[in-house]
Amino acid sequence: MIRENLTHTRQNMVDACHRAGRDAGDVTLIAVSKTKPLPMLLEAYEAGVRDFGENRVQELVEKYEALPKDVRWHMIGHLQRNKVKYLIDKVSLIHSVDSLRLAQEIQREAEKKHTEVNILVEVNVAGEESKFGSRREETLQLVKEIALLPLVHIQGLMTVAPYVKNPEENRWIFAGLQQLAVDIDRENIDNVNMNVLSMGMTGDYPVAIEEGATCVRVGTGIFGNRSYDCN
Ligand SMILES: *Cc1c(COP(=O)(O)O)cnc(C)c1O
Repeated sequence: MIRENLTHTRQNMVDACHRAGRDAGDVTLIAVSKTKPLPMLLEAYEAGVRDFGENRVQELVEKYEALPKDVRWHMIGHLQRNKVKYLIDKVSLIHSVDSLRLAQEIQREAEKKHTEVNILVEVNVAGEESKFGSRREETLQLVKEIALLPLVHIQGLMTVAPYVKNPEENRWIFAGLQQLAVDIDRENIDNVNMNVLSMGMTGDYPVAIEEGATCVRVGTGIFGNRSYDCN
């Protein structure tokens, strides 16, 4: 079941890349395994998945201990400052940095652990009240401030689009994040890359790829429905 879902998802990704004239190797599939038990993650691992996304620190740490060490762990959920210390040396990329205070905490913990941390800045492109993420018009300033933290390296931007029935409704959001990345890249800020665009989930990842996603975060489409919501 998981293996078939992965085959299907990967084919959809290749098709979307073709439509957009992009190289299929430029888009990474992150398997969002939140709430799912270890045997399911191992099945995905056996089928070649090396990038897993989690949205809770404790769950990520437990799964980190249990899975092979060549897995890249992605923190995709809202991150509380007091939990940064548990995560810092286990995660490949933190997708959900949306404040200077959080970035400063990451810097402090990176100093203590003698490590460096790759992050994305989360942007609330749609301006939804209920969402985390920096406001679009404030993102450049936030990027400039975070860039001054020597052990925190911005690799790009991330957004969580609303749930919609028709994925075309989210196209403007993905195009907006891509445009924002281009605008920030033009500023040539030291210690800032705009190489990663993390956008698109089960319902809309082909559209996100057409608009430039380099990482898609697919949960339900690989592991099936989650029995409880844990956002
Ligand atoms: C849960 C989650 C996903 C995956 O959602 P699906 O619709 O199951 O693919 C992607 N990104 C974030 C930030 C999530 O919390």
